[in-house]
Amino acid sequence: MTALQPIHRAPKRSLWLEEALAAEPDAERVEPLRGAHRADVCVVGGGYTGLWTALRLKELDPALDVVLLEANLCGSGASGRNGGFALSWWPKLSTLVKLFGEAEALRLGHAAEASVAELGAFCLKHGIDAHFRQAGWLWTATTPLHLGAWEKGVRACEERGIAAFARLTPEEVATRAGSPIHVGGVWERCAATVQPALLARGLRRVAVERGVRVYERSPVTRLERSSPPIVRTPGGAVAAEKVVLATNAWAASLPELRRVIVPLSSDMVATAPMPERLAAMGWTGGECITDSRLMVHYYRTTRDGRIAIGRGSGALGYLGRVTPTFDGDARRAAVVERGLRRLYPTVADVPVTHAWAGAVDRSENGVPVFGRLDGAGRILYGVGFSGNGVAPSVLAGRILASSALDRRDEWSTSPLTRGPLARFPPEPIRFLGGLVVRMAVGRKEEAEQAGHQADALTRRLASLAPSGMQKGGNGDLAETPSANDGPGPASV
Ligand SMILES: Cc1cc2nc3c(=O)[nH]c(=O)nc-3n(C[C@H](O)[C@H](O)[C@H](O)COP(=O)(O)OP(=O)(O)OC[C@H]3O[C@@H](n4cnc5c(N)ncnc54)[C@H](O)[C@@H]3O)c2cc1C
Repeated sequence: MTALQPIHRAPKRSLWLEEALAAEPDAERVEPLRGAHRADVCVVGGGYTGLWTALRLKELDPALDVVLLEANLCGSGASGRNGGFALSWWPKLSTLVKLFGEAEALRLGHAAEASVAELGAFCLKHGIDAHFRQAGWLWTATTPLHLGAWEKGVRACEERGIAAFARLTPEEVATRAGSPIHVGGVWERCAATVQPALLARGLRRVAVERGVRVYERSPVTRLERSSPPIVRTPGGAVAAEKVVLATNAWAASLPELRRVIVPLSSDMVATAPMPERLAAMGWTGGECITDSRLMVHYYRTTRDGRIAIGRGSGALGYLGRVTPTFDGDARRAAVVERGLRRLYPTVADVPVTHAWAGAVDRSENGVPVFGRLDGAGRILYGVGFSGNGVAPSVLAGRILASSALDRRDEWSTSPLTRGPLARFPPEPIRFLGGLVVRMAVGRKEEAEQAGHQADALTRRLASLAPSGMQKGGNGDLAETPSANDGPGPASV
């Protein structure tokens, strides 16, 4: 028997969830799980990973009895709070090659790219207006010291004839990004943006339509590793042939995953709508943008003309705990707002109306981990998206559904499903080391933003940060900007 960590209800919603639930007056009127149930597959977690898995299961076998249990409302976790960047895995191609070999890395790269368009097509087909807009991603430098941060990732693609990135002139980058602070960058064509919570709620709707039995406000408190495995909530229980744990950072308290992922918060703020100001600054193309800091800033516009911006580097979960600070913190929000004002000084007068945060499940190498918890292989998990889960969760659904049904296809046999390939140090080393390194990264990046290098000790400590703390992490420990493997809301 394993106890799952308690999960609380966030006092404040993200801008995205607030908008999405405003269009669903009955969303809160849910029936939690009551009594004893049986199912073919029980999915725990109603974010993208759990919902895509449930949808794929029904696609593979419409007769399957699939139960999905969500502690709060579907989309109340990271899936309803994220930046909405639907990115490919091209920036992490060299990491994928290192981990899985050339052929599988390329297969995964192409599949991840296709998943962005697939996400858009799924929304179109099922009438989900999740504001999908495929306008690409600008990977930029906001200080000359970060120029070329993308080189390694871009070259890994170019050397293989993959035209994922376009090299832009500094002027083009500054014009498209709407601010001269952007001094260089590249553009990845296939990236898209979504309104994250509308996507999550839309997936939920389609899952229900396909016959998935969704129970919200049904936190799983205990997992019995019996045959069949049983999950228990305060009001009921489900005995299922297979259990799929899709609980993001909350899975970090499970003994097997304690050193595999670490919960990190990522913080976001959004301005009031200001479409005319965006038009004046020229940021009208819908591109999502990141800088090249390790504590990356990620920013995009919204359909109603806001800027929504986030920054990785918030709370660090001791012993894998996701505490209330992961929902938001005024001091961290103020830091994000300072970043916004520096990047876009011309909108200094436009107020910030929303601030929130969420939990990211950081894996050691930035690549998600899929595996089975028990020897009998009946309890599966998919975690470790490391701040890059919007589009990759489409693939996660395929991997987890195929694996749960014991099918033999390219998803269930991918080396991605072989469990953890890297682990963090044990506590308290991980937590204390993480704090020291994170402070050093902060000092280093402030110095760089001011136009000079940090001192040698600070640079040395910062270089110990888990690789690719950004969207896409790469597995390298080098301290040069070129070690960056793409942006991501994860952090030290
Ligand atoms: C602020 C922020 C910004 C981000 N920005 C981006 C971005 O721009 N692009 C990108 O690709 N990725 C981004 N990410 C990461 C992305 O949001 C996630 O990788 C993705 O949403 C993962 O989905 P998930 O289903 O695994 O997790 P979640 O959406 O967190 O779903 C897990 C669910 O499990 C539920 N749960 C947990 N424990 C239990 C339990 N015991 N019983 C029942 N239910 C339980 C939770 O309530 C939650 O709803 C960001 C994340 C954050 C926090």
